[in-house]
Amino acid sequence: MATATIPEPAPQVRSFLAGKAKKLLIGGEWVDAANGETFETLNPADGSVLAKLAKGGAEDINRAVKAARRTFESGAYHRMSVHERSKLLYRLADAIEANAEQFAQLESLDNGKPVGIARAADVALTVEHFRYYAGWADKVEGEVIAVAPPYDPGRFLNYTLREPVGVVGQIIPWNFPLLMAAWKLGAALATGNCVILKPAEQTPLSAIRLGELFCEVGFPAGVVNIITGYGDAGAALASHPDVDKVAFTGSTEVGKKIVQASAGNLKRVTLELGGKSPNVIFADADLDIAAGAAASAIFFNHGQCCCAGSRLFVEEPIHDELLARVAEIAKGIKLGPGMAPDTQMGPLVSQEQLDRVTGYIKSGLEEGAKAIVGGERAGGDLAKGYFCQPTVFSQVREDMTMVQEEIFGPVVTAFPFKDMDEVAERANRTQYGLAAGVFTKDVSKAHRLAEAIRAGTVWVNCYNMFDAASPFGGFKQSGYGREMGKHALENYTQTKSVWIRTE
Ligand code: NAP
Ligand code: MG
Repeated sequence: MATATIPEPAPQVRSFLAGKAKKLLIGGEWVDAANGETFETLNPADGSVLAKLAKGGAEDINRAVKAARRTFESGAYHRMSVHERSKLLYRLADAIEANAEQFAQLESLDNGKPVGIARAADVALTVEHFRYYAGWADKVEGEVIAVAPPYDPGRFLNYTLREPVGVVGQIIPWNFPLLMAAWKLGAALATGNCVILKPAEQTPLSAIRLGELFCEVGFPAGVVNIITGYGDAGAALASHPDVDKVAFTGSTEVGKKIVQASAGNLKRVTLELGGKSPNVIFADADLDIAAGAAASAIFFNHGQCCCAGSRLFVEEPIHDELLARVAEIAKGIKLGPGMAPDTQMGPLVSQEQLDRVTGYIKSGLEEGAKAIVGGERAGGDLAKGYFCQPTVFSQVREDMTMVQEEIFGPVVTAFPFKDMDEVAERANRTQYGLAAGVFTKDVSKAHRLAEAIRAGTVWVNCYNMFDAASPFGGFKQSGYGREMGKHALENYTQTKSVWIRTE
């Protein structure tokens, strides 16, 4: 499969990547790691080195926490006029928009995703996200409560304040590097917290560029600190005694470690973890819409979505027809480097991820499932990158490893079902509960299933719809706490009750 000529990255991207190792952002200064170590980030389309970065460790986390604490205690940010804070966030959104092409290309190069998708989804949603939370910065309100303690005849005014939590650690994954940073930072900064952000080791570039913009638009030093590095830096953040809260997106396995690490100082924790989301298609659905959505539910971002529709349930009468259509779509997907204009699906993020995904495919084949399309890594020109064929499995049993565990790749397992009650029960037969899809023209079926499925988001006749205003997060082992919408503000504020004797 020959790929189109890959355009050179834009000059601003080339100049950003050129030169010395990228540094850590601590207290408004760009500094090397305390031990001077660096690491490389790779282009997953061909394994080439894109840039070197400082490899932050526990000592650097310590320095960043100190800087964040100093700024927090100084009040330079949370006591700033709320209108000023709002303006800073609007300015940041404008600056990202002005650099949208650079961000889209950095994201494509570092993560592998098609640059057009990075532009239309990752960067556009990031800009909207910061604007949405800029709008909240001057609208977080407490309340006045009627009180009358029975043992005191006095009169009292009781009101609540919504105060920032303080110093917040945020640990993010590699699937939507810029957008995940935005999801974490928007609500935290709107509510006056100071942050230490730890991007994923595979995709640190857009966070560094974002850090530059935070400095440029005038956020006080120490409000946003960025420590690139490996899991040990994340672990140091999660266990740090002077961090008040940690917000994490990533695997359920690491999520559990975060909870354990947080116990030392009982820091607040929110978790956005994995998923194994059911996508349920009834026989009365519009088959064109349902087939297209079933394909994009699993193939969008190469299946590297926590909410990927990886378990496809299709009502018996249309099972074969729908699968044939999804397989046709899968066959037609153009694989290639994210920077090539005709690419529809890029490489997986890393060799490790490719090994993990092809390992699950192999286990499925060994356990007797049938790959009706795909079923291995992509060869030919693409063998030098981490490309995996879009894969559709039928003849699957629900006890197979690849059905039980999150694959996080372009691999869907399909099952026929008979009726609503059966499919509701099977859809819920998972430790996860992040998202679900339902396709039907019958409004009562849609509502009944939306209620029956234990998941944080249910999409009806659509999939992968996101808006900064709409909450997102998990039931069960997909995590707790909600990102986006006004719900996310609760993760980053604590309520103070103030009593005043008036008589
Ligand atoms: P991961 O290990 O959970 O990584 C997520 C983030 O946590 C990264 O920044 C990582 O740093 C950091 N981290 C690693 N170990 C840590 C620790 N002990 N304490 C604190 N932070 C730590 O995810 P992954 O290994 O990149 O991917 C593995 C699987 O996780 C995927 O196959 C997928 O199933 C799932 N995943 C889910 C999501 C999601 O959105 N829910 C996103 C990504 C991955 P390093 O990057 O340096 O390791
Ligand atoms: Mg990379």
